[in-house]
Amino acid sequence: MSTTENRLQAVTGRIARAAAMAGRNAQEITLIAVSKTQPADAVRALAAAGIRQFGENYVQEALEKIQALDEPDIIWHFIGPIQSNKTRAIATHFDWVHSVDRLAIAERLSNQRPDDRPALQICLQVNMSGEASKSGCEPTSAPALVAAIARLPRLQLRGLMTVPAPQSDPALQREPFDRLRELAHAISRTGTMLDTLSMGMSDDLEAAIAAGSTMIRIGTALFGARVPAAHSPGGTSSGQPAASSGQQ
Ligand SMILES: *Cc1c(COP(=O)(O)O)cnc(C)c1O
Repeated sequence: MSTTENRLQAVTGRIARAAAMAGRNAQEITLIAVSKTQPADAVRALAAAGIRQFGENYVQEALEKIQALDEPDIIWHFIGPIQSNKTRAIATHFDWVHSVDRLAIAERLSNQRPDDRPALQICLQVNMSGEASKSGCEPTSAPALVAAIARLPRLQLRGLMTVPAPQSDPALQREPFDRLRELAHAISRTGTMLDTLSMGMSDDLEAAIAAGSTMIRIGTALFGARVPAAHSPGGTSSGQPAASSGQQ
């Protein structure tokens, strides 16, 4: 078996075990392979192994891979911070956007979604970690934002997404995921039906699945450690400075 197939098998095994522990059907959980900073060949290898959903954080880098792959049945998810001057490219080339956290960006995506494409699938990103995280709207503003985004014609609002501050203790990992699920349920009860919880990454997918995740976004566990991103400001996807000279 290739490294790619081994890693994929390890991840699908983790999903199956976590689902079984939670009494859930593993088929309810969509695996998104987060291919940021990975070359098109690595994406191709995973596509050949059967993965059909890919997540990208950087628009320019993503467009190159979307073009290079050119397979019509691949579903592309945008999961990174969104600058207003990138909304047209995102609305044109992606199927899902998980990182909408303000109305102005949602309005631009709706206005710019091409008429010949189906509605853009949207998750509202919510910050469940307070000061420890910069991305996402406040939980208290989520209900009003959901109501406003749900009215935009070229978007289909599907659910909520979160990226909690990293935690190694599984009990602590689960807490923000539980709160995101509660928030989504509260919103669904009072108006807009939400069917998607985008939560869980390489280090916390078990906690996310236990808490009800329907989409997990997995990078490192599928591709190995990330290589520095040529297109991202700051050099690496993690926001840490790239190792410069090899000297300690
Ligand atoms: C990079 C990234 C992931 C994947 O992280 P891993 O820890 O490598 O699995 C998931 N979601 C978002 C928003 C990311 O930026």
